[in-house]
Amino acid sequence: MGNNIKIKPENKFNVVIFGAPGSGKGTQSELIIEKYGLLHISTGEILREEIKKESELGKEAEEYITKGHLCPDELVLKIIDGVLDENPDVKGFIFDGFPRTLEQGKSLDEMLRKKESSIIAVINLDVDEKQLIERLIKRGKETGRADDNPQTIEKRLAVYHEQTEPLLEYYKKKGKLFNIKGQNDIEEVFDCIAETLDRLTFQNN
Ligand code: ADP
Repeated sequence: MGNNIKIKPENKFNVVIFGAPGSGKGTQSELIIEKYGLLHISTGEILREEIKKESELGKEAEEYITKGHLCPDELVLKIIDGVLDENPDVKGFIFDGFPRTLEQGKSLDEMLRKKESSIIAVINLDVDEKQLIERLIKRGKETGRADDNPQTIEKRLAVYHEQTEPLLEYYKKKGKLFNIKGQNDIEEVFDCIAETLDRLTFQNN
């Protein structure tokens, strides 16, 4: 899948890390950044920061997040637009927890197109539902993250299936989707991701 992708020299190394809540997107993003020097954009982290700061944006986002709902596309897109504009010279971005709706995916393509750039790969971390729930409950206990409680977890997984999963088909049609088994150890998962990304960079040379 996606073997014929070529990165144009002027293009950036933009990667989407995709998967259900608890699939390991944040953990793998850190390793990807370390190896490839990309800029991390986690909409979830940015929103939690805004909540902590008690900003207007944070107050609005909190209502959605605590219920396990998605924040409105408009709100999230404004954040992304800002980060893209503020960082014109990066090697590339890793988008974590974004896009989460078809509308966000299409808008991201449009924003990048205007900057003569695009997504080079979407890494989908595939983890079965039972393991996702176990991981999220454990994280809730360890970190006290407000939305990692059984009731909200159930809602977030339902929202993922309804609103986010359709993006997989969108990226598959574009030949940009790479499925990775996310159940294995952190290092094993990362090795698979790096193999995929190295193949894409290699084709560029
Ligand atoms: P996880 O993937 O583990 O659910 P995130 O930190 O990515 O964690 O997201 C936490 C919450 O933040 C989501 O449940 C949602 O309410 C909100 N959020 C994050 N990213 C987006 C997004 N791209 N669009 C809408 N809401 C978002």
